[in-house]
Amino acid sequence: MSAATRKPLIAGNWKMHNTIDESAALAKALAGGASADAQTLVAPSFTALNAVARAVKGTGILVAAQDCCWEDKGAFTGAVSPAQIKDAGATHVIIGHSERRAIFGDTDGIVNRKIAAALRHGLVPVFCVGETLEERESGKTEKVLETQLEGGLKGFSAAQLSELVIAYEPVWAIGTGKTATPQQAQDAHLFIRGKVSALLGADFAKKVRILYGGSVKPENIDELMDRPDLDGALVGGASLKADGFLRIMNFRRKP
Ligand code: PEP
Repeated sequence: MSAATRKPLIAGNWKMHNTIDESAALAKALAGGASADAQTLVAPSFTALNAVARAVKGTGILVAAQDCCWEDKGAFTGAVSPAQIKDAGATHVIIGHSERRAIFGDTDGIVNRKIAAALRHGLVPVFCVGETLEERESGKTEKVLETQLEGGLKGFSAAQLSELVIAYEPVWAIGTGKTATPQQAQDAHLFIRGKVSALLGADFAKKVRILYGGSVKPENIDELMDRPDLDGALVGGASLKADGFLRIMNFRRKP
């Protein structure tokens, strides 16, 4: 399976922004402009998940939570379980975002347990990996990606992960305005695909979608999407305004 047969996925991570009404309005504004050539996924705050799921019902736009607990239920004050996320109407969940890793202490082991919990409840994990600037500058990018992939995907079979989405998000490019060059992104995606092939087999690696995330904007989406191993984008800041995100959703690849 090549880039031509992996359906692109453009995902918006709304982080801790927007009220319930603002989230539903943004989702509705996107619904009319979704491209038939790509899938769209939006990740509102937990509080707005259900309203957004209702707002996009029947439009083809998919809904994700931004995180989940590794447990199904119980005494975990403040946490939200995959079952609750599914009940709210989401089909996907972002796991291992660098903000969760850096601010909330999610280790590779926790990420692995969260992926297991998501799969138990039929949620599709959007599994994020990526290196810091210091790691890149000291030549450790591939080692970091390898460790995160091995840790996060430990113990799962290709069949269990059949819907998995991976997001390569270099930490130095997230929210900084500094985008990886298309070649830097392509190199990392190719490395990730190779590592996934070693872990889960060549067939799986050929069909898994790998998104790029890190300061994606209307101005750079087309050149990023021209690279063969980039299957979409995970977009933070630029997903908060309908017009800009609509342009990203309708990226243009060179014929
Ligand atoms: C993100 O939060 O996943 C992200 C990539 O953010 P931004 O697009 O703002 O860099």
